[in-house]
Amino acid sequence: MNPVKIKLLEKKKLLILWDDGDESIIELRELRKRCPCATCLAERDKQSKMYIPIFAENQVTVKSIDQVGNYAVQITWNDGHSSGIYEYHFLKRFIEKTTIKK
Ligand SMILES: [Zn+2]
Repeated sequence: MNPVKIKLLEKKKLLILWDDGDESIIELRELRKRCPCATCLAERDKQSKMYIPIFAENQVTVKSIDQVGNYAVQITWNDGHSSGIYEYHFLKRFIEKTTIKK
């Protein structure tokens, strides 16, 4: 599956239109919380299950979104963090877990 359209909504959410007709809306905060880069993964490993991440505004707003090959997007956050590569299958699964289907 591939996105046919990726769009930012009110700077807070990401809208993805998939080629199978599905539409996903993901909170940017949730994406940042689950940033798949090695640094953030290691950081999350160290924290307990009780840890609640608190983000500054510039950590949950997006500067740019770039396509990586034909399998992922790279998100550059306003705080400069850009090592997270979000694969399409990750984004697609992400949604199924976090949103209620219409
Ligand atoms: Zn990261």
